[in-house]
Amino acid sequence: MSDLLLVLQVAVQAAFVLLAVATLADWFRHRDGRRSYLALAFGSLATIIVFSPAFTTGGTLGRVLTDTGLVLFLLSGYALLMFRDSFIPLGRVTQRAITIAIVVVAALGVAAGLPADPKQPHGPFQSLALTAVLVTWSLCVLEPSFRFWQASRRRPAVESARLRALTVGYAALVVEVLVGGLPGELTRNDSLVVLMDVVRVAIVPLLYISFSPPTWLRRVWRQPEEDAFRNALHDLLLYSPDRATLAQRALGWVTRLVGGVGALIVDSDGTILAARDLTVDQAAEVTATRNAPPPRGGPRRQLREPRLLVIPLHLQQGEGAMIILAGRFTPLFGDEEELRLRQYASSIAAGLDRELLTQRIASLEKAKTEFLNVASHELRGPMTVIKGYLTMLESGSLGDLSPRSMAVLPLLIAKSDEVDWMVEQMVEASRLEDGRLELKKQPADVAELTQRAIDGMRSLLTNHEVRFDMPSRAIHAEVDHRFQIVVRNLLSNAAKYSPARGCITVRVSQNGGARVAVTDEGIGIADENQARLFTRFVRIENQSTQHISGTGLGLWLSREIARMHDGDLTVESMPGRGSTFTLQLPLNQ
Ligand code: ADP
Repeated sequence: MSDLLLVLQVAVQAAFVLLAVATLADWFRHRDGRRSYLALAFGSLATIIVFSPAFTTGGTLGRVLTDTGLVLFLLSGYALLMFRDSFIPLGRVTQRAITIAIVVVAALGVAAGLPADPKQPHGPFQSLALTAVLVTWSLCVLEPSFRFWQASRRRPAVESARLRALTVGYAALVVEVLVGGLPGELTRNDSLVVLMDVVRVAIVPLLYISFSPPTWLRRVWRQPEEDAFRNALHDLLLYSPDRATLAQRALGWVTRLVGGVGALIVDSDGTILAARDLTVDQAAEVTATRNAPPPRGGPRRQLREPRLLVIPLHLQQGEGAMIILAGRFTPLFGDEEELRLRQYASSIAAGLDRELLTQRIASLEKAKTEFLNVASHELRGPMTVIKGYLTMLESGSLGDLSPRSMAVLPLLIAKSDEVDWMVEQMVEASRLEDGRLELKKQPADVAELTQRAIDGMRSLLTNHEVRFDMPSRAIHAEVDHRFQIVVRNLLSNAAKYSPARGCITVRVSQNGGARVAVTDEGIGIADENQARLFTRFVRIENQSTQHISGTGLGLWLSREIARMHDGDLTVESMPGRGSTFTLQLPLNQ
């Protein structure tokens, strides 16, 4: 049994030394005031535990060691209280009173000449001094434990878990110390001593985890929020109407991720894009100080100064920044949270860049629409004049032309019809864009309207054979005069995108609705391009189409008109074999 006791005692010592070394190394890596308090507390406790067997050597050395142990013990309590103070500051008076109380209790303990072994019988003054030491130390540790627990309520998941871990850590320390200093009667029972030592060894890793939680534990803590975070990020990036709103929404999660009290996003040109929980003046002040050196006045002052966490935003136009004003508990977050924040920052930067791009595209689109509007109206007048005179020349009302001039007239008329047709498409497209395209539907025979549309396009169809497959009975539907624009567009495309002398078939039928199908034997359209055809300004550019002129507006306009009639326009096509565009409209009830 005594061997086991010895092993356990060494294990307790080893565990504490490891804990002290780990905390010291942590402090050495980061060199901040808070970690120095932890290093001091655990270093003192480890020293006491390691040197405690030497306390019993007796004589002056034993006395000096015992008194040093006593002072170190109280020092560890003081350091743990100061660790709490660095997050939740104590009042100046309270702090002074505590310091004096600790010094007085330490002096009392030294004066009482406490025996090296706390389990030895004590005189009344010694008992009083020992009680004062233990009570003072316990208060220094239990009070923070309670405070951290209180502060953990109503906080974001990681912050709250981290504060609770500290609560547990502080409470575990009290258990550790009290178990180590149990009264003499209990420590005569060997099995109980074994049990106590096992508990003491087991508490050490718990202490380490509580004060420096490992990455995996932080991830576990974050898990409940992770889904909400992902969804929020998704919504944020997809549905923010502009950059300022996106930045404003993003800040909500920024402060939540690291428990900041305020945050702002600075654009690449230095302007403040969004600020949260900060007034305009505060935001400007924070931005101005972001590059300033850290505050002077020693580590204690620095601990109390509000710290800034600056995360760069790599934007396309230059470097912006996400600045977080650290809250009381922000330092509880470690590298892991900061890394997460950096990942978040790169998503936000991508989102902000995309918004900028969307804004640019929107203004380009607007410019296109405006150009369409102006160009179509400006072209329309001169075209009417040109066409009018060409028709007069053809009819001879302007006098006789030479046979050579007469020969080129049909071509001139066909070309002017082509331009006229393009201008008409542009005018209607710009009306549609501006929401000015209103249909005036009237009952009509679809077959007759289709025939009229073909007749209106004759000059453009001279190189093709047009077959018209018409039903014997009229097909009645409610249509606007723009129905003809759709049919003419399909005919003009069939002619443009099929070789001369090819056959174009126009089939009008009644099949659950009025249906006009225009089939050509042209170049056809690959499957992957078929869905894009009906988009504004989209043209399928390839070797067979590059020499054919067009605006990319016809099919988009035609499908919109079909849909405004509660119908649709669809395509079936095979490259190299030809295409069939089908316009379907509801019948007149
Ligand atoms: P465009 O003025 O370019 O003809 P459209 O909107 O009418 O504009 O057509 C869009 C694109 O669809 C055309 O650029 C062409 O590539 C393709 N397309 C349209 N009709 C046909 C067709 N009958 N056969 C092959 N390709 C066609």
